[in-house]
Amino acid sequence: MLIDRLGRKIEYLRISVTDRCNFRCIYCQSRESFKFLPHSEILTYEEIEEIVRVACELGVKRVRITGGEPLVRKDIEVLIERLSKIPGIEDLSLTTNGYFLLEKAEILKRAGLKRLNISLDTLNPEKFIKITGGFDFHKVWLGILKAFELGFEPLKLNMVVIRGFNDDEILSLAKLTLEYPWEVRFIEFMPIGKNDLWRDELVIPVKEIKDLLETYFPLEEVASFGGGPAKVFKWKGAKGRIGFISPVSEHFCSRCNRLRITPDGRLRPCLFSDKEINLKEYLRNKNRDLREAFYLAMSLKPEKRELKNTKREMRAIGG
Ligand code: SAM
Ligand code: SF4
Repeated sequence: MLIDRLGRKIEYLRISVTDRCNFRCIYCQSRESFKFLPHSEILTYEEIEEIVRVACELGVKRVRITGGEPLVRKDIEVLIERLSKIPGIEDLSLTTNGYFLLEKAEILKRAGLKRLNISLDTLNPEKFIKITGGFDFHKVWLGILKAFELGFEPLKLNMVVIRGFNDDEILSLAKLTLEYPWEVRFIEFMPIGKNDLWRDELVIPVKEIKDLLETYFPLEEVASFGGGPAKVFKWKGAKGRIGFISPVSEHFCSRCNRLRITPDGRLRPCLFSDKEINLKEYLRNKNRDLREAFYLAMSLKPEKRELKNTKREMRAIGG
């Protein structure tokens, strides 16, 4: 069992399998300092499998694959298939920008992937180009429909809301839940990495977003899947749900049930803290027990997050 000194039980592992990404989202990475980890530094699939196996022995039940963009890593379905067979895993999910879903959704489903979260910050193709650094909205939209058709459920869409940039689309994104049984989630813009865009005034607190949506129709609270950080609501009669994630305005640290692993094999107890444990030292030394690294992470998990720019970029932590 992984229980930290504050009694928080850790059951959820997020693994960033690459810091590389085809997109260049304005809120995720600084355009100047663009440097990728060398391939030799990245954990192999065998190493990730071993880490997950040990984590599951210690009580982890849910695993999410993220990045960077996980679908740019070669043969990602091979990893999914291996992880899906590890005893103890109850939920295996992946977060993606959706660009390669048209090609990859079916193969991922067959490999044993259960759920998908897809980033979608706008429904406007021109704005999509500006946010992502030049990519085609329609391809992502078709990928989302494909994933839906294949039965990935619940399908979650994540929108990072930035004041003056895409806040005029909050209602249109939320209205997707009238037509589709998806969970549309609004996320506050966080100051991760050397983010040169982030400023306090660009953050829209989720309370403001919720108030705006309630002027359209009152929202009713519903239970969230897996007790995660999102507070989830729905409009009466809607097919889908609306989630709010408030890392900036209202931290959810007392409910935190997760650990993160970076592409270069650092176990990270908190998204906002640069304290990390080098798992490669455990993996590559037969005298060291990987379980000790997880126990150490329990003692390093802070009581609550300190909101500050981290040394690593979001793509090299795994959002
Ligand atoms: N490439 C994949 C994607 O975009 O879904 C997975 C990795 S991405 C780093 C994971 C999540 O982090 C995405 O939902 C993205 O919107 C979110 N994210 C990235 N930078 C963020 C920031 N500064 N504030 C809030 N969320 C952020
Ligand atoms: Fe890439 Fe995801 Fe970051 Fe966008 S949010 S740049 S898609 S890692």
